[in-house]
Amino acid sequence: MLSVTLLASGSSGNCAVVKTDDAQVLVDAGTPYKTLAARMAYLGLEPADTAAILVTHEHTDHVSGLRVAARRLDIPVYLSKGTDRKTAFTGDSHVVGADDPFTVRDLHVQPLAASHDAEEPLAFAFRSGDSRAAILTDTGIATPAMHKVVRKAQFLALEANHDEQVLMAGRYPAYLKQRILSDEGHLSNAQAGCLLMESASDALSGVTLAHLSEQNNTVQLARETISHMISHRNDVSLELDVGQRHAVSRTAVIEDGCFSWQGALRTLPFLINRA
Ligand SMILES: [Zn+2]
Ligand SMILES: [Zn+2]
Repeated sequence: MLSVTLLASGSSGNCAVVKTDDAQVLVDAGTPYKTLAARMAYLGLEPADTAAILVTHEHTDHVSGLRVAARRLDIPVYLSKGTDRKTAFTGDSHVVGADDPFTVRDLHVQPLAASHDAEEPLAFAFRSGDSRAAILTDTGIATPAMHKVVRKAQFLALEANHDEQVLMAGRYPAYLKQRILSDEGHLSNAQAGCLLMESASDALSGVTLAHLSEQNNTVQLARETISHMISHRNDVSLELDVGQRHAVSRTAVIEDGCFSWQGALRTLPFLINRA
């Protein structure tokens, strides 16, 4: 069994729970620990069962709750050398690299180099038994290694940060628009759609769109753009969901080769990021 739930997604905070039969890990801790723990409790998950925190990169929306979470849960943190240096993390850290798979109990983790304006950003692919999933966010381009992962995955949490036209017409200063659009920025709806069109296999059954910009995207626009693109692939039938900043996503579950969603998208106004 392998499951993925986004506890929070977007520039105000990112955190996901990945679970197998024997392991529960967090990917990033970009919300206050209290928010993270409350959202886990809401899902019936015990924060204390968490075995490790995997960190993608040092941007605040991914690490703001890291120190407190790692200390409170007394668990190791896996991160790249560059992220380790940038966060100056002082707890129990395991430095991993892009070609450095590792395991946490029955969870196999493949770190992938992301293309993002951080010191040494990573994305992560996961396998437990025959179940395969990946979380691909904070990358300006879909790398060949990411395409390879998508070809085998049954589930993806995939960045759909912005709509290029909405971004260009919007109020962001030019340098910020350039940063977001660059190869070291964020994947647009169209880029996410292209990745799926090119590399999804018929095994891919579910995608949760992630890291949507509040200013430069909407849930409807991301969903429509990507649904339309993927509809060109007659051999692929997948369900799209959208992760949101003040909501816990549906849980994607892969078990014995079968994919299913558990729960509804849960908007939790009472759990909005409060320190
Ligand atoms: Zn970032
Ligand atoms: Zn981010």
